[in-house]
Formats: sequence, C-alpha cells, structure tokens
Amino acid sequence: MTANFYSAVAASIDAGPERVFLETDDGKTHLRADLARESARFARLLIEAGAVRGDRVAVQVEKSPASLFLYLGCLRAGLVYLPLNTAYQRSELTYFLQDAQPRIVVCKPESLDLMRELSAVATRVLTLDGEGRGSLADAAAALPSEFVTVDSAPDDVAVILYTSGTTGRSKGAMVTHRNLLSNARALIDCWGFSERDVLLHALPVFHIHGLFVANHCALLSGARVLWHRKFDPALVLRDLPRATVMMGVPTFYTRLLAQPQFDREVCRNMRLFISGSAPLLLETFEDFRARSGQTILERYGMSEAGMICSNPLDAQRRGGSVGFPLTGVSVRVANEQDRPLPRGDVGGIQIKGENVFAGYWHMPEKTREEFTADGYFRTGDVGTIDADGYVSIVGRAKDLIISGGYNVYPKEIELALDALPGVAESAVIGVPHPDFGETVAAVVVARKDAKLDPAAMIAELKKNFANYKVPKQVHVVEDLPRNAMGKVQKALLRERYGK
Ligand code: AMP
Repeated sequence: MTANFYSAVAASIDAGPERVFLETDDGKTHLRADLARESARFARLLIEAGAVRGDRVAVQVEKSPASLFLYLGCLRAGLVYLPLNTAYQRSELTYFLQDAQPRIVVCKPESLDLMRELSAVATRVLTLDGEGRGSLADAAAALPSEFVTVDSAPDDVAVILYTSGTTGRSKGAMVTHRNLLSNARALIDCWGFSERDVLLHALPVFHIHGLFVANHCALLSGARVLWHRKFDPALVLRDLPRATVMMGVPTFYTRLLAQPQFDREVCRNMRLFISGSAPLLLETFEDFRARSGQTILERYGMSEAGMICSNPLDAQRRGGSVGFPLTGVSVRVANEQDRPLPRGDVGGIQIKGENVFAGYWHMPEKTREEFTADGYFRTGDVGTIDADGYVSIVGRAKDLIISGGYNVYPKEIELALDALPGVAESAVIGVPHPDFGETVAAVVVARKDAKLDPAAMIAELKKNFANYKVPKQVHVVEDLPRNAMGKVQKALLRERYGK
C-alpha cells in the first residue's frame, strides 16, 4: 500500500465522486471527482515541465480551488509542495527560493518577472491567478485527466513549510506523508468530522491551519467546504447558517463579535467553532459563548508538528487551555535538562509522535539541536499541564523575560492587564535594562471610548505582583502588530520599545 497522502484522499473521492466538494464564495461548485481530474492534470504538467520525485514546487498564489488542485497534484507526482505567504516581497522571496532551490515556481501573474529573476534553477515559472487562470491552468487544460499517483514511502517529504521565523533565519520544516495522514486522522476522530459536515473555510492556504487542518479534515471525511477566498465578516455571516463547522484564528472570532448581526440564529446549524494558531483571549471565549451559545474549541499546533493538542469535543472545553494531546501524540513539560516536570509546573513543551516533522531542510545541525536525547521535539513553547491533564501555553521560550535573574511569563501579566477596566488586549515584552538585563514593558490597546492611564495601571498591578513582574513602561497603542495568522509580533514590539 502506498503511503502517498493522496491515496487517502482518493479513497474518500471514490466513496462519492459526484458529490459537491467545494462551493466558492461566488457560488461556483466543484465535485469530488474534480479533485481527482484537476490534480491529475497538474501532476502531469509538473512532470512534463521537468520535475522529478523530491523536487520542490514553490507556490506563491492567491487562494483558489485551483491552488488546492495544484497542492494535490504535487503530492500525487511525488513532488514537494512549498507554499509561500502571499505577502512575501523580494528580499524574503530571494531567501526562500535560494534556500529551497525549487524546480518549478508557480506565482501570481503580476510577480512573473520578479520570480523569473529570482528562480535560478527553476525549469519553469508558471502563473496562476485568484480565478484559477494563468499559464499553469492553460497548459494543464490540454492534458489528460488521469494520473497514476506516485507510490510514496511514509517518510517521503510531502511539503516544506517555512516557519514564520520572527527571529533569525526562517527554517523549512520538512513534513512527510506519514505526518499528514496521522494528523488528519487524529483530527477527524477528535472533532467528529463526517460527510454531514459543511466546513466554512476562510483561512489562507499557505499555512498549516488552512492548508492541512481545514483541507484535510474535509478531504478525508467527505465533508463539504464553503470556500472563502479570505475572511470577510459579511460573507461569513451570510454563509454561517449553512455551515456546521468553522476554523479560525482568534482574530476571526473578535471580528465576528464586532458584527451586530452575529447571534445564535446565525449559528443555528453550527456544531463546532475551532480556534488556533495564536492564543484565544479568555474574554473572546466568554463573549463568544454569551452571544452565540457556542463554546469555541481551542487547539494547539505548529508547522513542525501539525496539531498537537485539542480541547475535547464531548467534555469540558476550557478557555485559556489548549486541551489534551491528540491520539498518538505524547506531550510533556520539561526543565532545561529535558527532565519531565510534575503536573502544574511551568516548563518547555516537548512532543513526540507520528505528527512530528522529519527535520529542517538543509539544517541537520539545527534539527539535532531541537530534539532531546530520548527523541522529543522541543517546541519552543512554554506551558503547563494541570492535574486534570489540560495543557496551557504560557508563551514562547524566546518571549520569556528574565529580569534580575527572575523569570517573568508574559502571559501572567497580560491576563492581569486584560482584566483591568478599559483594556481590550495587551502584549508584555522584555526590554534591555542596564542593571537587570531586562525589565518588563507592556503595550496595551484600549477598548472603544476608554481612556487608559499608564501610571494607574502600574499602581494597580503592584498590588498583586512582585515588583520585578510589574511593567516599568506601559505604552497605549491603537492596535497590536499581527502577522497573517493573527500572532502578535513581539519581535517588532521589542524593536520598537526596546531602545
Ligand atoms: P506556526 O508554525 O506558524 O503555526 O506557529 C506555531 C506556534 O503558534 C506555536 O509554536 C505556538 O507558539 C503558537 N500557537 C499555535 N496555536 C496556539 C494556541 N492555541 N495558543 C497559543 N499559541 C498557539
């Protein structure tokens, strides 16, 4: 039996080829059989264009059904799919293309010249626009719609995902066919996906959340997809009554709450809202429940490991926690010597399982550094596991503040700041200090119409926290800088306020 992830997709297509798989936000539909036909054409084209097994296909295109067919085509042809954030510009692209040396590049029509210039070893640079048109589609249209999927081994690399890399060089995480399949199966089981589901998919598809989590759950379970090219609250409100599941980053949920029409009635057919990729504020979790009657299920994952933990479908979903390890994933919290810590202690989150990637592309040293002697991957996240087994994330190890030798976990102070009147959200960072190495600084966003007084906020925190944890500076801003997946860019804040 081949371990090519597409074989599992094919089995699900065969169970109902004439069923609609996907409906776009402007009403076009594609059948499950189209997945097979269109991906076959793309697989043929890529091979005819000179790609051989293991070659990388770099793709920087707008989200469209064709981009999904292209992804499947790469897997079928035994090629390595390399999605690139649509926001990346020349300097970022230069690095990725030099590092990954793709054989084929597929880009937006307007970036053709730039991509040609930057793609030294590529045999072809093809275009694909948001409507699925371009030289890729033109060339593929003439090709037969059958293709015998390549017989991949479980550990063959299927996708390279470059980490968002807020510090240092971005690394290419090599994700295997085994990783994809084990994680998709664990998620379908954990979240109860079935043919009866209708998934509202408004996430970008250059990142694991939209590319793997959302697509794979639908592809393997037989669910139907309402395919939105981006998150547009008005369109989401229009389509939610027809959906049963939605996946989002926390910002999707705060934006939905900002819509006065968002209520229980709109969610009448929904059985599950899932959040991940960045921490969901407790306040959002609670406001969402009050307004819609729905309890958001938060989960935790990363490019290097797919999904790791999830709150349960049928038991208590706790705000502020990411739930339990998925089936087949073992999670521990360890100290700096990689020794597991008792329940309740805070430490580095380490993981092991079939979901864990094969290593960083062309960085064997870096890969070795990130694994413990007993084979656990150091996620770089700091967290804790409580007495009931619920995992909570406290922050990134690199965001940990060490002030005068004392550890400050930003999350603890952020939660306290968020609870102060008038605060919408906050980010706590370490800034250089001549005596203490670092001191704590806070960046806060006020609620609409609220006025914040930094001195009063500092005074309030002093009542509850040791002095070394209390921010010495509080900056009030309009918005926190976020990347495409809704993560607060702390490195940027450190640069801005760390002078
Ligand atoms: P990426 O590889 O871009 O998906 O980023 C992975 C990182 O996102 C993780 O290592 C976490 O730091 C963060 N992350 C993902 N899900 C959550 C979550 N539910 N809560 C807090 N942080 C999260």
